[in-house]
Amino acid sequence: MLGSGAALGTLESAMRAALTAAGAALLQAVLQEQDDGYCGPRARCPRCGGHAAFAGTQGKTITTVLGPVRITRAWYHCAQCRHGFAPRDQQLGAGDGSLSPGLPEMTALAGAETSFARAAGLLAGLAGITLSPRTVERAAPPPGRPARGWPALHTERRPRA
Ligand SMILES: [Zn+2]
Repeated sequence: MLGSGAALGTLESAMRAALTAAGAALLQAVLQEQDDGYCGPRARCPRCGGHAAFAGTQGKTITTVLGPVRITRAWYHCAQCRHGFAPRDQQLGAGDGSLSPGLPEMTALAGAETSFARAAGLLAGLAGITLSPRTVERAAPPPGRPARGWPALHTERRPRA
């Protein structure tokens, strides 16, 4: 057990890992308490506007700033265009991807500054978030476009008049 004699760096790393793991568990518990996005036996297909039928529930792992969380959500399938979707994903702002809304911005900032492999390493080292270089690449802004939030980081604050 960590305690007497342990260096501050070791303690703070262990505390950060424990707190983020506890935060992810709490976030997952909160998400599981909420409804799973079931909106009746039929839902409007977001792709073609047709009638999609409820097709049971599906699990999904979403990577958040606190780590991975597992959710279960109602799943719908459209026979017209063969598109499957979970209304809950849109409700959560997770879309079709596996990243929480808080992560793409962080990932894009790192990916805009260095190689995707190095950005993945930076995110792991600085925030304890494990992502593949490919995931960082997908979240990075297109060449020539700044990452969302990037200008805000470089805006100098002016003193109030
Ligand atoms: Zn459809």
